[in-house]
Amino acid sequence: MPIRNRLAEMADEIAGWRHTLHETPELMFDLPETTAFVVERLKSFGIEDITTGIGQSGVVATIKGKTDTKGRVIGLRADMDALPMDEASGVPFASQIPGKMHACGHDGHTAMLLGAAKYLAETRNFDGTVVLIFQPAEEGGGGGLEMVKDGLMDRWGVQEVYGMHNMPGVPVGQFAIRSGSLMASVDSFDIVVTGKGGHGAMPHEAIDTNLVAAQIVVSLQSIAARNVDPLKSVVVTITTMMSDTDSYNIIPHTVTLKGTVRTLDNSVRDLVEERVRAIAEATATSFGATAEVLYDRGYPVTVNHEDQTGYAIEAARAVVGDAAVEDNTPPMMPAEDFSYMLEARPGAYMFIGNGDTPMCHHPAYTFSDEIIPLGCSWFAEMVERRMPAA
Ligand SMILES: [Zn+2]
Ligand SMILES: [Zn+2]
Repeated sequence: MPIRNRLAEMADEIAGWRHTLHETPELMFDLPETTAFVVERLKSFGIEDITTGIGQSGVVATIKGKTDTKGRVIGLRADMDALPMDEASGVPFASQIPGKMHACGHDGHTAMLLGAAKYLAETRNFDGTVVLIFQPAEEGGGGGLEMVKDGLMDRWGVQEVYGMHNMPGVPVGQFAIRSGSLMASVDSFDIVVTGKGGHGAMPHEAIDTNLVAAQIVVSLQSIAARNVDPLKSVVVTITTMMSDTDSYNIIPHTVTLKGTVRTLDNSVRDLVEERVRAIAEATATSFGATAEVLYDRGYPVTVNHEDQTGYAIEAARAVVGDAAVEDNTPPMMPAEDFSYMLEARPGAYMFIGNGDTPMCHHPAYTFSDEIIPLGCSWFAEMVERRMPAA
């Protein structure tokens, strides 16, 4: 079945919700107006089972089908947070809050899940329960993890979970996905090299931390070149090299390196951490210095489950036709905290084409309202296909 007529009728109303959200962007976990808007809309659809404050400020609501003969429960997730940047999109409903912008389209994701909720609450043409998951703090706050830690999957008995992100550059009317690794892990680290400060003219009496740090920077590139399988992806980048002096004649006592690591495979992720630590510590030791490594694990690899990816593809094909679904799209190096939900339950993360607009996080990025009925229909298809009416 293509776009549902009912959802096509509702498209303007849903776009209106998005414009309201777009005008009042909020950041991270601090989403009082956004969550109040979500709750108010859900109540207006006749949805009564609404829980707030999950994962600090997430909202979870349920819709029961006409029947519940098998105890099936499907979770659908949208993220709600915006980004700390000024908007330059030129849309008439641009952000009214300086320094905050919905530049990743989470306003659109929230509106599409609300649209699907309204449709599903009206029709209830399924056998089981839909759990609507409105998540805070996707942009670096790990709101997905916070919701999982708060018992999202167990408390609501979620059996499978599906999410969706708009994708600039993919034409409107198309979907894209792949089974397995879709988006990267993102870890960061600090390496604090401590040697022995001294006079720049008397290096033999010092332990030169700049030289040690430089050696570490060079050696870290051997991880990608020599440790990781050449058929697997990895990025190890040193982004900052900072000494505790600013002079021409002092050898600094400490030098700090900062860097980022991206991988598409959790075993590669583990290997990189092990190698960063070993290279930094052993290199420093070989010069008589020390290196303290502070390794911070961010979002894990977003891994789509094979069976659920298949179901997600079938649902997308039902909405836009076989040819408009790319089922083996290349993985991307940005990270996504839906990964935590996919670690907790089988599921899949789908890209919905957002057409010709600057990439997400650009000040002129725009979410295309044309994709709203497509995204809502995909959510509805997921529910009605995974929990067919008895
Ligand atoms: Zn983003
Ligand atoms: Zn995003």
